[in-house]
Amino acid sequence: MKEILPGSTIGILGGGQLGKMTAMEARRMGYEIEIYDPDPFCPAAKVASRHWNYPYDDSDRLKDFSQSVDILTYEFENIPAVLVKKLEENSLVCPSGSVLDISQHRVKEKEFLACNGFPVVPHQVVRSVEDIKDAAARLGLPLILKTALLGYDGKGQVQLHSIEDCQRGWEDIGKPVLALVEKKLDLFAEFSVIVALGYKKNYAFFPIPRNFHRNSILDYSIVPSNIEKKIEETAKEIALAIALSLKVVGLLTVEFFLTENAEIFVNELAPRPHNSGHFSLDSCLTSQFEQLIRAICNLPLGQTTLRGPVFMRNLLGDLWQDGQSPNWIELLKIPSLKLHLYGKKHPRIGRKMGHYCLLGEDLEEIISLDKQALKILQ
Ligand code: ADP
Ligand code: MG
Repeated sequence: MKEILPGSTIGILGGGQLGKMTAMEARRMGYEIEIYDPDPFCPAAKVASRHWNYPYDDSDRLKDFSQSVDILTYEFENIPAVLVKKLEENSLVCPSGSVLDISQHRVKEKEFLACNGFPVVPHQVVRSVEDIKDAAARLGLPLILKTALLGYDGKGQVQLHSIEDCQRGWEDIGKPVLALVEKKLDLFAEFSVIVALGYKKNYAFFPIPRNFHRNSILDYSIVPSNIEKKIEETAKEIALAIALSLKVVGLLTVEFFLTENAEIFVNELAPRPHNSGHFSLDSCLTSQFEQLIRAICNLPLGQTTLRGPVFMRNLLGDLWQDGQSPNWIELLKIPSLKLHLYGKKHPRIGRKMGHYCLLGEDLEEIISLDKQALKILQ
């Protein structure tokens, strides 16, 4: 495998904020970027040299796009994996279409993990309300019902607390062909391991963020995680083993659950930059976005040591009350706050519009700075 050098063109399927930040890092390194996204106003289009504004299922356009770039990657999982696999016949796609195929499908993903001996939450595949009731009897309530396809930010999932919930839950997720129920755990913590892998199985981890969710959407992450070293090391071993068995070239994020009894489970996989890794832009020499470029272009991986404690908070559309944006000037008066806005036109409840990172000497300082920032936002 030859290096894909600066000056070459990287194609990104998906033009959301992950694509935008990847594009900005790639351009800084001298690459050209082309984006494929059906949304004419997608954030990444503004920083790309070309925007292919067509549907994800237009195989002819996808083919033209793939032939116009030197290498393809994706920042979004809900692109038909069959089409991505087709592109692989003539183009280089990293991570591969088969990695996408598994990680975009909760049932395939869970089966892959379970079959390979990775720790997963007790679960059952379901196709009907009867199946769900059967799972409730076998696994016990409460359960979480999740669609196999197209779920993100808590969408496509619902909690089941009683037998009566089974029918309603099935309807709420739109009676899909295939779904999954899993035991609702009492979580002590959530964290994620982000690992980059190159073509020669060379790899580099990022510092581990501890993730705090609200309404099943990532609310904030804190790094370092303050989770026991031994647990972090075990999780890193698991994440690397998963990445190697999937033969990932690029980034793999593994979301973990840690229970009250110190058990760890793999929650889900994302073969791309991850929201919980945004801190790396401001507090690691090499960000997750740059590392992705380095990995897929067969360049040496960069240093990822944490410069200091960092607090990353997502800014959701909810903050744009009556269409009015938050008071950025006040927020920017906090000197160690780094603001990232994705340039999305329409703020909606739960929509990720931006994030900030707060840097400080210790955890206490960054948490108190976040309190100060929150007061300004409210
Ligand atoms: P997605 O991030 O794709 O929306 P996840 O499966 O990661 O879907 O679920 C989102 C969040 O919901 C998790 O980060 C966690 O906070 C909560 N959650 C999901 N599954 C469980 C579970 N089995 N037990 C407890 N909490 C869960
Ligand atoms: Mg998740």
